[in-house]
Amino acid sequence: MEFDERCLKVQDPKFDCLLFDLDDTLYPLSSGISSHVKTNIEAYMVEKLGIEESKIENLGNLLYKNYGTTMAGLRAIGYNFDYDEYHSFVHGRLPYDNIKPDPVLKQILKNMRIRKLIFTNGDMIHAMRALKRLGLEDCFEGIICFETLNPPCLLMPCDQAPEIFDIAGHFAGLGSADDLPRTPVLCKPNVGAMEAALRIANVNPYKAIFFDDSLRNIQAGKRIGLHTVLVGTSHRVKGADHALESIHNIREALPELWEEAEKTEDVLYSDRVAIETSVTA
Ligand SMILES: [Mg+2]
Repeated sequence: MEFDERCLKVQDPKFDCLLFDLDDTLYPLSSGISSHVKTNIEAYMVEKLGIEESKIENLGNLLYKNYGTTMAGLRAIGYNFDYDEYHSFVHGRLPYDNIKPDPVLKQILKNMRIRKLIFTNGDMIHAMRALKRLGLEDCFEGIICFETLNPPCLLMPCDQAPEIFDIAGHFAGLGSADDLPRTPVLCKPNVGAMEAALRIANVNPYKAIFFDDSLRNIQAGKRIGLHTVLVGTSHRVKGADHALESIHNIREALPELWEEAEKTEDVLYSDRVAIETSVTA
């Protein structure tokens, strides 16, 4: 193979970026963190927003289902609150000790010499704390998180109670999801939000692999051109190019990531030898 041709091959791998969701993707669902998040969100809705306890479960489900996150839904139906306060309430008292260091995953990530980013709906403080617990804080080039897409919320001083859209009543009256109020919060699985995040991080979706435990995030990722890996199950479903029971199985599912790394190393090494040879000759 000619030198130029080899260089082109090195410079143009099939994939040049890996995007990893964080929660329940880089650590297992069995840590129990997500059920604590759910409990804390429900407590926030009762204690801070004054929502009746009997309505919480149905409302939370409707908001999560229709808006991607409960927070995005709460903002859409009219609640106004400080994002940082919400995040510190919901994440601040999580049992982070349940997340265990993962030296095996660390080694896997270190062996994949390709750009790696976190892509989470969570806030930066939560992402940093979870990564630190996993021992993975130096494995990623950057973190795409809540703050990447959402500027601080301006709280409007208001003398009256805010007008809240009755989403449960809307659906009980056979209203359609298309007629729901829009949310100002940008998050997965909103396709526009995901495209915006990738633009900010300078990621070409056609050359990136996206790992996430949420099927709807994976399906949205597929729609914007990402190569997709559903994590947490071995059952591949529509929208997922691969399915992994655990993130530890990356190598088995995507051997080409190692092959690319080895190919790159081989060519670079052979070129270095060639240059050294010509200097000493
Ligand atoms: Mg997740």
